[in-house]
Order: sequence, then C-alpha cells, then structure tokens
Amino acid sequence: MGIPDEVVRTLRDARHVLVLTGSGASAESGVPTFREAQTGLWEQFDPHELATPDAFHRDPELIWRWYTWRRELVARVKPNPGHYALVRLAELVPKLTLITQNVDGLHQRAGSKDVVEFHGNLFQNRCISEDLIVADSDTSTAVPRCPGCGGFIRPGVVWFGESIPPQALKTAASAVQDCDVFLSIGTSSLVWPAAGLAETARDNGAVVIEINLDATTLSERSDHHLQGKSGELLPELVDYLTL
Ligand code: NAD
Repeated sequence: MGIPDEVVRTLRDARHVLVLTGSGASAESGVPTFREAQTGLWEQFDPHELATPDAFHRDPELIWRWYTWRRELVARVKPNPGHYALVRLAELVPKLTLITQNVDGLHQRAGSKDVVEFHGNLFQNRCISEDLIVADSDTSTAVPRCPGCGGFIRPGVVWFGESIPPQALKTAASAVQDCDVFLSIGTSSLVWPAAGLAETARDNGAVVIEINLDATTLSERSDHHLQGKSGELLPELVDYLTL
C-alpha cells in the first residue's frame, strides 16, 4: 500500500504535528511489544501483570530480574528507520511534539530532541521511599538499594495503574489543543490516558493519521489509517515530503 496524496498534502501544510508512538515503533528494532509473546525465561509471564506496583511489592526480586533482562535487550538493539524518519520529519515541519509511551530511549538515540516520555524511562532508577530519581545505586543486592536512604530502588517507568509524570501530562495537554495533525504510530490505543490524546486532538480539529500493522480501536476514528510497518511507511512518507 502506498501513501495517499492527501496524507502527504496534510503533512506538507501542517503547522504543528503531534506524534504519539507506542511499542510497535520499536518492534522492528527487536524490542517485543507487550502484546507479543515474550521469549525464553519470561515466556510464562504476562507483562501486564509484571508491570504493576503490586507485583513489585509482592516480589521485587522477580521484577528486577525482568527489568534487567529488558534493559540488556534494549541496550543491544538500535533505532530503526522509523525512528530516524521522525528525526527528519521534525526538520521538515514548523513544529513537532514527540510523545512516546516507549521506555526504551530509542527516539533519543536516533537523534530526536525534547522527547516527552509519557511512561518514564527503563534506564532510570527511582528510590521508592523518597520518590526521587537516583543516579547510582548499590547493585550488590538482588534488589538495588538507594545510596541515600538504603530503601529499595525501582525502575523509573510508569506502571499500570500509576500516574503519568506531571510535566509530560502538561506538555501533552497543551499539544493536543494546539496541533493540527496527530500522528499515532505503533500503538494499540488501549492504554490510558495516552489512548485519549488522539480523540482530544480530533475534537480540537486536528487531522488524525494512524500508522499501524493492524486495525486498532482508533482506526475507524482516524482520518487516515496506513496499515503497515512504521519502519517502512515513515521513511516513505518523509521521502514524499522532500520531493
Ligand atoms: P501495545 O503492545 O499495546 O501495541 C503495539 C501496537 O503496535 C499494536 O497495535 C501493533 O499492531 C502495533 N505494531 C506492532 N509492530 C508494528 C510495526 N512494526 N509498525 C507499526 N505498528 C506495529 O503497545 P502500546 O500501545 O505502546 O502500549 C503498551 C505499553 O507497553 C505502553 O505503555 C509502553 O510503555 C509499554 N511497552 C514499551 C515498550 C518499549 O519501550 N519499546 C515495549 C513494550 C511495552
């Protein structure tokens, strides 16, 4: 499937593009989405049950083993052509806000600036007692400890049931009011509140374009649904913009 001319025209005329990415944007880099089966040791676990505060309180060691596995996996992979296409897109439109639900830092590694991390970052550590980001930790124990207070450290990601970082929420709230194009990439649009951003942008008059391998709950409410891989469709789209 090619890129419809109208999508190219819409982006060419755009004033402020708000991009929301989900785990599908990193799938071609080799980072599994939560809806894909996990591999190896983690095959038997449902990520939706591991990525919760309850799971950490129940068994912090297990959760740390899972995050250590995820950190090692992400450290080994590289940004894919979709990530790089978004860097080029930001240079081609007057304004672009990039909000990601991904915690892997691949947009930043590709060169995107001012990325809004809606669900935090896999490589950050947070002290659960002081609720502070800590740079270093004592990793000699199975569950790392805060050098300041000795309390448990947890990964700096937003778990299911937790609040979005206030600054990310504020930036998103203002961008959905201001954008004239909303680009939803590789997200199932099932995880809230991120899933509601497209709807609010649309209510404010933005054109909604979705790029996804499959149809999602957003597809019918999008102005354009481009079905395919973001690592292929995004570079193609950006190439058209430069013609
Ligand atoms: P999701 O797993 O719910 O959905 C992934 C979506 O991506 C699906 O709709 C799928 O059809 C689509 N997809 C898969 N491969 C694609 C490709 N190559 N191109 C385009 N689309 C593709 O992911 P979600 O909506 O991001 O929500 C799940 C939560 O899991 C998020 O909160 C996110 O923080 C977290 N998560 C992050 C990572 C990561 O950082 N890479 C990985 C797994 C999960």
